[in-house]
Amino acid sequence: MRDTIVIGAGLAGLMGALALAEAGQRPLVLAKGQGATHWTGGTVDVWGATDGANVREVVAQMIAAHPEHPYARVGMVGIEAALDRFRALVETAGYPYVGSLERNMLVPTAAGALRPAAFVPTTMAAGALKAGERLLIAGFRELRDFFPPLIAANLRDQRITARGIYLNLPPIKRRLDFNTRNFADLFDDAAFRQDVGEQLRAARSTATRIGLPAVLGLRDAPAVVQELQAISGAQIFEIPTLPASVPGMRLFNIFKVAIEQAGGRMQIGSEVVRTVGSGDWLTTVYSTAAARQQEHRGQRFLLATGGIAGGGIRTDYTGTVWETALGLPLKAPEARAAWFAPQFLHENGHPIFRAGVVTDACLRPLDAQGQVVYQNVAVAGSLLADADPIYERCYSGLALATGWHAGQMLAMLER
Ligand SMILES: Cc1cc2nc3c(=O)[nH]c(=O)nc-3n(C[C@H](O)[C@H](O)[C@H](O)COP(=O)(O)OP(=O)(O)OC[C@H]3O[C@@H](n4cnc5c(N)ncnc54)[C@H](O)[C@@H]3O)c2cc1C
Repeated sequence: MRDTIVIGAGLAGLMGALALAEAGQRPLVLAKGQGATHWTGGTVDVWGATDGANVREVVAQMIAAHPEHPYARVGMVGIEAALDRFRALVETAGYPYVGSLERNMLVPTAAGALRPAAFVPTTMAAGALKAGERLLIAGFRELRDFFPPLIAANLRDQRITARGIYLNLPPIKRRLDFNTRNFADLFDDAAFRQDVGEQLRAARSTATRIGLPAVLGLRDAPAVVQELQAISGAQIFEIPTLPASVPGMRLFNIFKVAIEQAGGRMQIGSEVVRTVGSGDWLTTVYSTAAARQQEHRGQRFLLATGGIAGGGIRTDYTGTVWETALGLPLKAPEARAAWFAPQFLHENGHPIFRAGVVTDACLRPLDAQGQVVYQNVAVAGSLLADADPIYERCYSGLALATGWHAGQMLAMLER
């Protein structure tokens, strides 16, 4: 019998498992596969407030106006506590984040757009531009989906002085599939870094900052940035790539080490497919294993299986929407025709993305009558109803805040 079982290994599940482990539990994390950590750009988006608006004030006003929103279940104090714990975690691991809830930073994407984020790894910080900066965007032809000339052209359209170049791939020992993960391994090699740094110095001209794809090593990216800065003479920053995300892998690795050091265990490749409960108490979940189902009995369960993108919610052509792991009731549009607003960038987002599990203040799942379905289950992350993380740009912030809150609530549960 486990004291706690966490289902899902995205940021919500990882943050929940950390909260539980630090509260003295020994959580087992079961996940079908990697979470959106391996897709996300690696920034922590708390709310998409633009034009210099104060993020803390905007979220506090939203909470007051929408008490059904998952951020309202956690509260502003809880949100900030979760973000503080996250920042302390990454700082201790040597991968610090900068930023604040005062004002979003604007950092370039792989399309050359500027996107708001509350917190970014220090390796991306120099992408938040000041007036008068001259940018060089550099990449490798071998790296798919990262086009420096395109990024630079789009930045120039936003009145930013930018130029894009391709670097020559330094000599490497063996032929690789040139994906982001393999490039990160190459940047962990000193000779490779030296060659790239010298090419940047030669190509820099009057550029004050150089943007590179976010593949600057898996071991110690801040040190790689420092080294390239020292050789090239310009400030270096990482630009999030298309998946797979190296910054997300760094985060996953940091959480895994912290959870295991605190007494937890991770089991990736285990999809929860069946449950057993007794009244309003969940007792057992079954995950898929090689030739049979594996039984996991637990006292508490944290469900963080993501929304539609994470596999926690599925839909079909008839318009049916269901929760995949525990079979919990969902709040969702009744008819398929009501899933989407007429315009893509509708002012309230699209109704289907607000589908999810409704909870009480402890994040316990509720049914349509407002009754708690399971007393010993808490729900976190994109699986929660009444948030549209894409439209609101609150994805990672919501996952961290609700994961932390759910873990703390469960840790206090008595029976
Ligand atoms: C392409 C992409 C880019 C993104 N970029 C950003 C960004 O730049 N900034 C930002 O803030 N956020 C970004 N996000 C969002 C963000 O990283 C996460 O989506 C968010 O943190 C939600 O996390 P989650 O833990 O709720 O769910 P997920 O990360 O989706 O994790 C769900 C987990 O549950 C598991 N699971 C699902 N069903 C089962 C089951 N039945 N049994 C066992 N396990 C199961 C999955 O395998 C996975 O481990 C991005 C997301 C995507 C997809």
